[in-house]
Amino acid sequence: MDTRLIELPYGYGALEPVLSAETLALHHGKHLNTYVNNLAAAIPGSGFEGKSLEEIVAAAPKGPVFNNAGQILNHNFYFLQFAPAPKAKEPVGKLAEAIDRTFGSFDAFKKEFSAKAAGLFGSGWVWLAATKDGSLEILQCQNADNPIAAGLTPILTFDVWEHAYYVDYRNRRPEYISALWNILDWEVISGRF
Ligand code: MN
Repeated sequence: MDTRLIELPYGYGALEPVLSAETLALHHGKHLNTYVNNLAAAIPGSGFEGKSLEEIVAAAPKGPVFNNAGQILNHNFYFLQFAPAPKAKEPVGKLAEAIDRTFGSFDAFKKEFSAKAAGLFGSGWVWLAATKDGSLEILQCQNADNPIAAGLTPILTFDVWEHAYYVDYRNRRPEYISALWNILDWEVISGRF
């Protein structure tokens, strides 16, 4: 992925009522755009000129370059996994098999993932990620951290920074988490595995 602001494949109002147009306009147009601008300011002289987000996140020490590149990469995974009318409402193919093998069932996976998203202290991201041998893990990552920095492959992520849900759900993070499952496009997500 390059470091520019991604275009969303849907309009700001398209994910209502799960995520409002106001939330999308703020989250993509302001928060993500700020990370893009801050990374552009931090890159010159850092040694990461011309590198992809994945290369930066895998190699940069913790600091402004890692934090802003990480937040751009994390938001790209987050926004691009949603659809107003998902083509697949549950995991498909190899990912469906791996989820059943690891967690017992899709419902059991959803329960564990949701509990880890609700229980993450402070700002961060919850991820489903794959190891090199294809086994699955749920990760709780603080701030801008992500599975690529740990050598894993990112598959699914929930943003649990307050800016992701406060306009629509106030402090009710579990309600936001529960609603997000309805707009996940499992065709896109399964393709990441
Ligand atoms: Mn966010």
